[in-house]
Amino acid sequence: MQYHSTRGEASPLDFEGAMLAGLARDGGLYVPVDIPRLSHADIAALAGLSYEEVAVRVMRPFTGLAEERLGDLVGGAYAGFGHAARAPLVQIGPGHFLLELFHGPTLAFKDFAMQLIGQLFQEAMTRRGERITIVGATSGDTGSAAIEAFRGLDNVECFILLPEGRVSEVQRRQMTTPADPNVHALVVDGDFDDCQAAVKAMFNDHAFRDRVGLTAVNSINWARVLAQVVYYFSSAVALGAPHREVNFTVPTGNFGDIFAGYVARAMGLPIGRLVVATNRNDILHRTLASGEHRKEGVQPTISPSMDIQVSSNFERALYMACDRDGREVARLMEALRQDGGFALKDDVLKALRSTYASGRASEEETAATIREVHARTGETICPHTAVGVKVAREQPADGTPMVTLATAHPAKFPDAVEAATGRRPPLPERMADLFDLPERMTHVPDELSHMQSLIEERLK
Ligand SMILES: *Cc1c(COP(=O)(O)O)cnc(C)c1O
Repeated sequence: MQYHSTRGEASPLDFEGAMLAGLARDGGLYVPVDIPRLSHADIAALAGLSYEEVAVRVMRPFTGLAEERLGDLVGGAYAGFGHAARAPLVQIGPGHFLLELFHGPTLAFKDFAMQLIGQLFQEAMTRRGERITIVGATSGDTGSAAIEAFRGLDNVECFILLPEGRVSEVQRRQMTTPADPNVHALVVDGDFDDCQAAVKAMFNDHAFRDRVGLTAVNSINWARVLAQVVYYFSSAVALGAPHREVNFTVPTGNFGDIFAGYVARAMGLPIGRLVVATNRNDILHRTLASGEHRKEGVQPTISPSMDIQVSSNFERALYMACDRDGREVARLMEALRQDGGFALKDDVLKALRSTYASGRASEEETAATIREVHARTGETICPHTAVGVKVAREQPADGTPMVTLATAHPAKFPDAVEAATGRRPPLPERMADLFDLPERMTHVPDELSHMQSLIEERLK
């Protein structure tokens, strides 16, 4: 399978090339040249398989890997999860289900992709005898998932930029307590968009990029999107697909998780509605409602992993909605950078609206949803999941089951959950010592050259 850049200039790469590159050299994101389809019978045959078996069948056509090899990597990726089903469904109302994606080592859905990427990178680097440097920006969960996936590997150095004061204490500690010398938590004096912009700028500095062997594992990395396609299949099949449609609502920030839902549908999974749920940083909801994609300032919320105005993977959605016109995508992205936004052409807006529905939740609505779900069902949900549940409930009832992605464990955001329910959610047993371990981090100003010299210094 070949991968093209959404900006149409960079040369196509195979799966491993696209995974190791992260961002394309023209600044675009890699997308498969075409999306393989599973037949009705192929999808029906997933019923009753383990999560790992579903993963191999769904991902293999994109990777070109042999079945057995992919099976080993997938097995290694999910062995450390705290639930045998990996991504279990829990019912919270008539026809409404939560897909629990927080049973991995850092308690958020990012582990699904990152643990697999850790396996894939290690294998590729050992085979090639090369070293790489991973630099990632995080609004909280990506960073800890990456550090957990790469800590202790000897051919990978991992730097995570996190915004000062904008991540929860549990999230920060998950990034600052691993003692492995190859992982580095850099606390940036800025917000998430500043961190993400710094990472993008490092990639666009081709001399630096080549000198340090830079690789991205942010949700722009195609391999991450691909890993997330799997749980759409496993959950939809559990609810009756392909014989029946299933709807999904996805708490959204960088648009990686919901784009994986788009890919699942394009592969033939009968997804009815695919609903983007945002917090008050609602650029995506506004875009779908008005056709204007325009940045505003990032406002801190109780669902910090979605506090984003520049949603990287939205570029992939635009590319598909523009009929894969890379030149048009490059023009829109330049307008976003220069003028802070752009207006969508009618046909592109129409294509996006036929693919995605959307909604938003205010801070009060998010807290009220946590409280109400807890009172009515006994389930404790995290604030991101609550944004999803609130938006899912606003969708017209059409007799189709609705799955809301439960993107993090409530114990990752104990203050918000306690404020809403009066009860502090405990951390799972296996990470009970998180608050006792010493922290290790470096504070840096939001200055590209400073960060770059620090990284080169640490690599010596
Ligand atoms: C990353 C994250 C999101 C947003 O996912 P995207 O793929 O960036 O849209 C939502 N909830 C939680 C808990 C997250 O960690």
